[in-house]
Amino acid sequence: MLKTKTGFILAFAVLLASGTALRAENPERSVIISIAKSISLADKIDALDLDLLGEWNGKVYVLAGPADLEKLEKENVAYIPETPRSTPPSSPVLFPQGGINGAYHSYLELETDMLVLQQKYPNIVKVFDIGDSLEKRNIYAMKISDNVALEEDEAEVLFLGCHHAREWISVEVPFLLGKYLAENYATNPDIKRLVDQSEIWIVPLVNPDGLEYTIHVYRYWRKNRRDNGKSNFGVDINRNYGYKWGIDNAGSSLNPASEVYRGTAAFSEPETRAVRDLFLSKDFQAMISFHSFSQVILYPWGYTKLPSDKDAQMKEIAAEMSAKIQAVNGRLYDYGQSGTSLYLTNGDVTDWTFAMTGIPSYTIELPPIDEIGGGFFNRQEDIDPVFRENLAAMTSLIEHSIQNYLPVVPNPFDLRTNISKIFKKD
Ligand SMILES: [Zn+2]
Repeated sequence: MLKTKTGFILAFAVLLASGTALRAENPERSVIISIAKSISLADKIDALDLDLLGEWNGKVYVLAGPADLEKLEKENVAYIPETPRSTPPSSPVLFPQGGINGAYHSYLELETDMLVLQQKYPNIVKVFDIGDSLEKRNIYAMKISDNVALEEDEAEVLFLGCHHAREWISVEVPFLLGKYLAENYATNPDIKRLVDQSEIWIVPLVNPDGLEYTIHVYRYWRKNRRDNGKSNFGVDINRNYGYKWGIDNAGSSLNPASEVYRGTAAFSEPETRAVRDLFLSKDFQAMISFHSFSQVILYPWGYTKLPSDKDAQMKEIAAEMSAKIQAVNGRLYDYGQSGTSLYLTNGDVTDWTFAMTGIPSYTIELPPIDEIGGGFFNRQEDIDPVFRENLAAMTSLIEHSIQNYLPVVPNPFDLRTNISKIFKKD
């Protein structure tokens, strides 16, 4: 059903009046609409430059404001207003026990909890500062392994969280993996074996400046806090990695105001450089980058619809992770190649890690499945079940890495030996 402009403005006014008004530097975008997925929409999607939240069941969900609606009407694209189950916190009342972010971690709470873990389990937890954000917050990595101070000849696996500021649950899942491994090491022989035979690296908060901004200023903020001039802020750091960065100008944007602005150059942002440098200093055998929402497991390529030469293997591991997840709480995570969804993405971390080393590289979009199910606003009670089901996927990927691990031998075909050449090409 195509809403008239008047109809929409009415819905907009009702939503504002019901107390969901956001303190925002982008106040015009504050309501959710859905658009039916279609080929003609796919053709227009880059030009429309919408804040795409996710797609599910034949619909694309969008965070929109009056200017977006004008564009849609001009392009004859039909949309309907949606009412999310939960609304962004406009006051601390939403989380009475834990302040405005409740059981979710702020930057400082996460720093404290990681350092406490290191203090309690000094033989298996070590916290590293792998670089500073734009606003000079530390980007932390936590290593979990036996003999944690040593670099041992063991499988290495990387877990990343919170490239996108508003995706709070994506901090919790990788952090809780580290906590779970540390706390169960002494009593659970399966966990002990995994930790003894691998080196697990966790960066739960790639975008600390953005996260703080979502807690204190604008809950829907996605990017980092780069000042692009002319009152435009933020680079989408999951469009800033150096493989096929900006290719064909589709799947990321040149416009500094866009939610998918890719920055002035590949690795222009200190947050992506920190992840890059960690990745290149290790020999990872697998990685997962957590996002929310839509409950899917995605693998490269994202920049093209063409499959990679390892498509079958990537799919098999994704299917296994999906089955392990479903066995825990019954929730189904769909899986597939990233670039075959409605829109392409370029400059994301998984395309880059996959291009560099060919290792299994996944984006897991955590629950809920859609905007109506709560979108970015998972409840506090969601943290544990979402973590538990993803624990099954994460441990299975670690296990897979251990089983397939071969001690390091120099490989002339490893792209990292030609690193400067690769960067120049991009
Ligand atoms: Zn995301």
